[in-house]
Amino acid sequence: MQAVPAELRRLNPLITPAAAALWRAIQEHPHAPRWNYRTGDWISARDLEALETFRQKVLAPRRRQSTTAPPTKLIQELASVTPRVEWLRQRLPEDVDLEAQWQDLPCMTREDLATDMGSILPDDADLEKVAIYETSGTTGHRLPVPNSARGASSYAVLLELAMQRHGVEPKFSESGVGCFLIGAQQRTVTYATVHAVWSNSGFAKLNLRAGDWPTAESPGRFLEAFDAPVLCGDPVAFDALLTMKPRLHPQAMISTAVSLPPVVQRRLVSTFGCPVIDTYSLNETGLVAYTCPEGVFHLLPPDIHVETLDVAGHAVAQGERGEVAVSGFRNPYLPLLRYRTGDFARLDHGVCGCGDPAPRLLDLEGRAPVLFRAADGSVVNTVDLSQAFRSFPLVQHRFVQHADRSCYAFVRVVAGARGFDEHALTAELRRYLGSVSLSVEVVDKIERGAGDKVVAYESELRLGQEG
Ligand SMILES: [Zn+2]
Repeated sequence: MQAVPAELRRLNPLITPAAAALWRAIQEHPHAPRWNYRTGDWISARDLEALETFRQKVLAPRRRQSTTAPPTKLIQELASVTPRVEWLRQRLPEDVDLEAQWQDLPCMTREDLATDMGSILPDDADLEKVAIYETSGTTGHRLPVPNSARGASSYAVLLELAMQRHGVEPKFSESGVGCFLIGAQQRTVTYATVHAVWSNSGFAKLNLRAGDWPTAESPGRFLEAFDAPVLCGDPVAFDALLTMKPRLHPQAMISTAVSLPPVVQRRLVSTFGCPVIDTYSLNETGLVAYTCPEGVFHLLPPDIHVETLDVAGHAVAQGERGEVAVSGFRNPYLPLLRYRTGDFARLDHGVCGCGDPAPRLLDLEGRAPVLFRAADGSVVNTVDLSQAFRSFPLVQHRFVQHADRSCYAFVRVVAGARGFDEHALTAELRRYLGSVSLSVEVVDKIERGAGDKVVAYESELRLGQEG
C-alpha cells in the first residue's frame, strides 16, 4: 500500500494508508465529479479523544427535563466565558446572578453576529485553528460563522444520536464511504475526504448539477459505486435524487434544512426504504433538533439550552409560540447567549410516543424550502440566486416566483451606493433562470412577513411537483 502523501496528512492528520487509498478511489473514480476544492477534517488525536467524550455524553440515556431553567452546567460555562468576551462584559453587570436573573439577560441577535463578531469572539480564541463554515441551508442571507474542526465534527456525533432514535447505527470503516452530502446548485464547492470521527470512512460533498460530471449518467453511477449508508442533503437535492432514481441502499437520509415537505419525505421513504430524518440547524447554532419517528422535532444536543421568547426576551408561557433562542458554548469562537434565531415554535415538555424524553419544538416555523424553476423547468437553488444578489450593493432583496414561472425581484440598494445597474442584475439572474419573465424593481422598503422578518424568497411552485 502506498505511503500517505504529506499534503493528505496535513488535511487529515489521522489518515491511515487504507483510508488514503479509499480517498484516492473516491477522488479518481471514473464517474467522479470535477472536484473544485480540497479540504480535510483537520482532526488531531486530541480532537478525536474529545469527540469520543462528547459522543459518550450525547449517547448517554436522555433524562426528562422538567424545568425550563438553564442547566447549572450551562450557567457555569457562561460564567467562565464572560470575562473573555467583550460583548458579554459590556452587557452583564458584575454582580449579576446568572441563574436568578436569567430571564433578564440580554439576547444576542443576527444583527450582533453580522456587525459585531469581533466583540463576540473570545479574547483568547486560537485563531490559528479557525475555519469558516457554511452549511447547506436553503434560504438567503446565510451568515458564515467561525468554528473549530472539532466543533464541525461534533455535527456527525449528533447525527449518530438522531439516527439511533430511528434504530439505525451504521458501521463506519476506512474501507468505504460513510456519508455523501448532496446539493443541487449551480455553483458550490465539491470535494472528497475522510472523516476520523466516523472511523476514517469516506465523505464527499457533491453537486448533482449536470455540468459538474463527466457524463449525464455519472452522478447516479458514482453514487451507486460507493452506496453510502448516510445521505445528507437539502430538500432540493433530495427532490433531484428522486428524479434520478439511482439504485442506492442508504440506512438513513438526513435533510439538512428545515423543512422537508411531507410529499418529498414520503417519496424518499418509499423509494429508498430507510428513515428520512429532518433536522433543524442554523450555521450559527449548529444542529438544534431532529425529527423522531413520530415526525416531531426534539431538541438534540445535550449541551445547548433552548427557550422560546417573547419580544421583550422573556420566556413565553408553556405551550405558547415564541421565538426560538439558543444558548451554548461548544463553538470556541462563537459563545451564544440567548441567540434569537428568527424562527418560531412552541416548546413542549410533554411525553412523545417515540420515547425520547427531550423537549419538542412543535409547529416549528423556520425557513421553509423554496423552489424556483428556470425557463427550461430545471430547479434553481436559492443559494445561487443569493450569490447573484450578493454581487450587487443591496441591503435586502425579496424574490418571488409565481406559478407561471414569472419572477419579480424587489431590491433595496445600499444608501449612497453608486452604479447599481438593474440591467446587470437582471442579466446575472438570467444566468440561472433563463428566459423567464423577470422584472427587477428598486424599492425604498421591503415588506416584512411573519415574525417581522423580510422573506427573501417566495415561490408558488412546490417540491414534489413535476417540472
Ligand atoms: Zn418523538
